[in-house]
Amino acid sequence: MPAKVDRYARHTVIPEIGDAGQQKITDSAVLIVGCGALGSVHAHLLARAGVGHVRIVDADLPEEVNLQRQILFDEVDVAHQTPKAIIAANKLRKINSTIKVEGLNTRADASNIEELIKGMSLVMDASDNFETRYLINDACVKNGQAWVYGGVIGTTGMTMPIIPGHSPCMRCVFPEPPEPGSSPSGVTAGILNSAPLTVGALQSTAALKILVGATLEPYQLTLLDLWQASFRSVEVLREKECPCCQLGRFEFLKP
Ligand SMILES: [Zn+2]
Repeated sequence: MPAKVDRYARHTVIPEIGDAGQQKITDSAVLIVGCGALGSVHAHLLARAGVGHVRIVDADLPEEVNLQRQILFDEVDVAHQTPKAIIAANKLRKINSTIKVEGLNTRADASNIEELIKGMSLVMDASDNFETRYLINDACVKNGQAWVYGGVIGTTGMTMPIIPGHSPCMRCVFPEPPEPGSSPSGVTAGILNSAPLTVGALQSTAALKILVGATLEPYQLTLLDLWQASFRSVEVLREKECPCCQLGRFEFLKP
């Protein structure tokens, strides 16, 4: 009989991960905020990588219009109208039965975000709105929690890892969220389905780097346009007057 190959052998053989890195991944817990296109990618990649505890938070039901890009869901899910977080958890348990998976059918907001991130090693932004991202930023900076920002619109996307105390935070780079309704949405601008797969893959790679203890310096915002096949990373710096990470004003945590 052939020898049993460790399920993570294709990761542990990579020098950047190795057995020690895989053990850190196994010992880690990751919160995924949102279970749409980005959250589908994070969930797949992190569960398959063996993150020991995956917690997914989302309050939506699957819709037919999601199927173009949200790779966790299918037509049966749309017909059954089970909450996305529950479907996701059930699918992840089939993908990797050795990890703990929680699917929470709730919306992350100012009342529960600090409880949701408690005990987690890392937070993945898979939200589709600025309100939630600034909320994650406040909660994570306040609690010294690493998180990985990601966003997609049209054919473009952006991502940036945030390590409180080391990297700039979201508000160092984008001091204020745009006025509601002032920026394009997925409804008005669309989302090319390869964009969230790519941004989600970059975010998940940053997550593995954080979990294994690799350096992410210099801290960068990565911008991409899938249609143009263009990638650009720009170094980001801490802002001395940042209301969040420097002045400690957590304005988005207030209900
Ligand atoms: Zn800041």
